[in-house]
Amino acid sequence: MKYLTSVLFFWFLFSISAQNQKSKLIVGIVVDQMRYDYLYKFQNHYSEKGFKRLLNNGFNAKNTHYSYIPTYTGPGHASIFTGTTPAYHGIISNNWYDKQENKIIYCVDDENMTSVGIVGEAGQRSPKQLLTTTIGDQNRLHTQFDGKTISISLEDRSSILSGGHTANASYWLAGENEGKFVSSSFYMDKLPDWVKGFNKDTDRYLKTWNTLEPIELYKESGSDLNNYEKTFVGKSTATFPYDLKALAKNNKGFSILKDTPMGDEMLTDFAIEAITNEELGKDEATDFLIIGYTSPDYVGHNFGVNSKEIQDTYIRLDLQISALLNHLDKSVGKDNYTLFLTADHGAVHVPQFLKDQKIPAGYFDNKQLRRSVKQFVENRFGSAMLIEGYSDNVIFFDYDELENNNIEADDMQEALYYFILKQDGVDRVYTRDMIEQNDMTDNFGMALKNGFHPKRSGDVFFILEPSIIPYIEKGSTHGSYYPYDSHVPLIFYGAHIKKGVTYKKYNVRDIAPTLSALLDIEQPNGTTGVIIEEIFDKN
Ligand code: ZN
Ligand code: ZN
Ligand code: ZN
Repeated sequence: MKYLTSVLFFWFLFSISAQNQKSKLIVGIVVDQMRYDYLYKFQNHYSEKGFKRLLNNGFNAKNTHYSYIPTYTGPGHASIFTGTTPAYHGIISNNWYDKQENKIIYCVDDENMTSVGIVGEAGQRSPKQLLTTTIGDQNRLHTQFDGKTISISLEDRSSILSGGHTANASYWLAGENEGKFVSSSFYMDKLPDWVKGFNKDTDRYLKTWNTLEPIELYKESGSDLNNYEKTFVGKSTATFPYDLKALAKNNKGFSILKDTPMGDEMLTDFAIEAITNEELGKDEATDFLIIGYTSPDYVGHNFGVNSKEIQDTYIRLDLQISALLNHLDKSVGKDNYTLFLTADHGAVHVPQFLKDQKIPAGYFDNKQLRRSVKQFVENRFGSAMLIEGYSDNVIFFDYDELENNNIEADDMQEALYYFILKQDGVDRVYTRDMIEQNDMTDNFGMALKNGFHPKRSGDVFFILEPSIIPYIEKGSTHGSYYPYDSHVPLIFYGAHIKKGVTYKKYNVRDIAPTLSALLDIEQPNGTTGVIIEEIFDKN
């Protein structure tokens, strides 16, 4: 009897501690350019163990959006992991005109760093432009740096901005002749042996890309041969199969992996190696593994939203997610990890395709606009030098030049407001004064304000009409606040997450504070998002 009592007592203690146990590993999956509808559009071809496992057993926030302009990769990854928007984390674009340096800068460039694992500049990177902390940083602080953060992607900005300032390691792909994962002296002096080992044998990903299923079964996308796709150098049509080994030579070598789902395979294999060799999810301190799938973005840019290539990419990605989940079950344990899946932005249908279906769409020539803005300013104010730079749909004034010429910034803002508004394809225009001085109540105004950093941002901003893009006439892009760019998947899954669905509107910046609540740790220091409390189970 005494024995039974103590057994029961220990069982009781055990069950209490199991309930209170924190997730040992948080896995953040960010699929670059994954539109919300891809979860459903290709569902007939998905396995039961990938996207569907997440959808059927996790919590699906079906109406999650970006809340700022521009919806690009750098700002997207930064916002997911910092719980805020460019207005606070400072990553206002992938590249922007820097007013101190008087040149266009790249969001993760850092010339004070040296490359690790490669000679050259591919590793001269750091998160120095990121002004606030990430959820991974907060977890590192909370656990006395016992909990690890490892972030990986084929793209440097995706890996670096999601890992944050205290990541143990961020890795990304050096393409061209290299074909290996590299890092920066910001994180380490040399690559760990397991990374070196992985890098030895990356030729194997240069295979022939054909459709996974017979192509006639892909009824959810347009025909393989059409007028809306870019193709590779050395290939006359954008049609299957694509022999990567043969094409690599004239298509930037190993960088071709970014253009195909073989890049996703490579990244999944690398993630599994990271779990094993970094012993992620093994001890009590929660670790973070962040995986940024890059290839879907390149496939979308090249072939467009409605292509067979996109369909095949997602059918293959589903199998990669399935393999990853399977590995996590075995290595960390089904009840010990929490995962979320989202995207850094969506993408618009190829505008020429929309036009051919009589839907308003088209192309905008940014170079032409910049030329005519310059001419207008010169005619009106006497000097073309008053404009200092451009990035995206933003014009930057030269304040010294304004002062020298005795011109008020708001006079030039107002003049340019009316000039740019007249241009074909421009939907509306905002100025620095409008953004700084008004409480924006319209959607676009709010989105611009959320993307506006007082020190870093420019002076005049314009928004194009729906489905009009500053891009070439093949393939697709993103950057706007329209739902095709702003609406993304958000699914939470695993330990402490209940099964369910919500249609309430959430923002991507809500992800990080929700994870803070899950882990009982402080929110990232620029957080403006809210906690999505519906997702938690009763424990
Ligand atoms: Zn992206
Ligand atoms: Zn095609
Ligand atoms: Zn992109």
